[in-house]
Amino acid sequence: MYPQELANLIKQSATTLGFDLVRISSAERFQSDEEIALDRLQRGLLDGLPWYTESRVRRGTSPEELLPGAKSIISLGVSYLPNERPEAVAYSGPHGRVAAYAWGEDYHGVLKRRMKALVEDVSAKLGHAVNSRWYVDDGPMLDRAVAQRAGTGWFGKNTNILTSQFGSWVFLAQVITDLELEVDPPLKKTCGSCTRCLTACPTDAFVSPYELDNTRCISYLTIEHRGPIPHELRPLMQDWVFGCDICQDVCPVNLKVSSTREPAFGKTDSASLDLVWILEMSEEQFRERFRHSPIKRAKRVGLQRNACVALGNIGDRSTIPALARALNEGEALVRGHAAWALGHIGGVDARGALASALRAESDADVISEIRLALDAIVPNTG
Ligand code: SF4
Ligand code: SF4
Repeated sequence: MYPQELANLIKQSATTLGFDLVRISSAERFQSDEEIALDRLQRGLLDGLPWYTESRVRRGTSPEELLPGAKSIISLGVSYLPNERPEAVAYSGPHGRVAAYAWGEDYHGVLKRRMKALVEDVSAKLGHAVNSRWYVDDGPMLDRAVAQRAGTGWFGKNTNILTSQFGSWVFLAQVITDLELEVDPPLKKTCGSCTRCLTACPTDAFVSPYELDNTRCISYLTIEHRGPIPHELRPLMQDWVFGCDICQDVCPVNLKVSSTREPAFGKTDSASLDLVWILEMSEEQFRERFRHSPIKRAKRVGLQRNACVALGNIGDRSTIPALARALNEGEALVRGHAAWALGHIGGVDARGALASALRAESDADVISEIRLALDAIVPNTG
């Protein structure tokens, strides 16, 4: 079969299987993407992601290393934007916001099952097993570099891949194959003079256009980061409890885009989380509630830490008793952030809870957090 016929067969099969976007790129080494990624790694912009190493970047930009004999990469995308747009969801009471990609089912399993089905379907049609490897964002492959080369989308200044039909609300996936396929050209689109995402970021995480300091990004802080959240960033994190969509919400390319046709992603039941419930959930409740959700990545303690920061920023005094309980009963990381939240909310009750916890606390880090929180509360207020 000719490369063009074969590419068409693959595109048809992928579309039938539910992929919204399917384009083909060559499997040549991604040299400039490798250099850019290594430079960012060396400058510390990816600090806090221990798995993001130099050798991973080198492997992920060399398709031949991932699949000997690699000739083409199938670049795939599935929209995850529910019919109800993120800004249309009402957040009432002490609730924390969740990035839209995590509103539905965990995409890793859904996309991997679908890529497996694609390879099986193409193998059956060709009458022989297709040599391939497939990846979502948990593999070494630089998914955005593949999507850019294949013309699935173009790089936005917010570092996301922007697609014409679905904006940046897409999960990307790739299948490397040793099939000779006709490749698609990159798009000639750019952000032009727009800078909305750069100025909208509440933590000032963009070092420059197309360049993000991961360590300041709310997405990283609430999902990947395992320790205490730096004090100076906590007040800037608003009510985000898992991820952040601000630089996507403000993007004009994301207006008037099609929503997902995938039921697994078209849900909104995790669009906002009851923060007091999160603060008090047991490990079992956490596992049960988030078993099929990307939110499980934050782990229970991480989510409770995030809930404290969000509650501190919301400043609802009715949550002081729950924060006081967390200050006494939570794990050290949660106790420290509950102290910060109480200090941020302030008032007599918060001060009383902090003073009483200080007498019982033995962990040096938590003691230090309680002292800072007490200092933050102006005496005789509230
Ligand atoms: Fe900034 Fe949020 Fe975008 Fe991160 S996700 S760069 S914190 S706007
Ligand atoms: Fe590009 Fe503007 Fe969207 Fe940022 S907000 S990614 S600059 S189009």
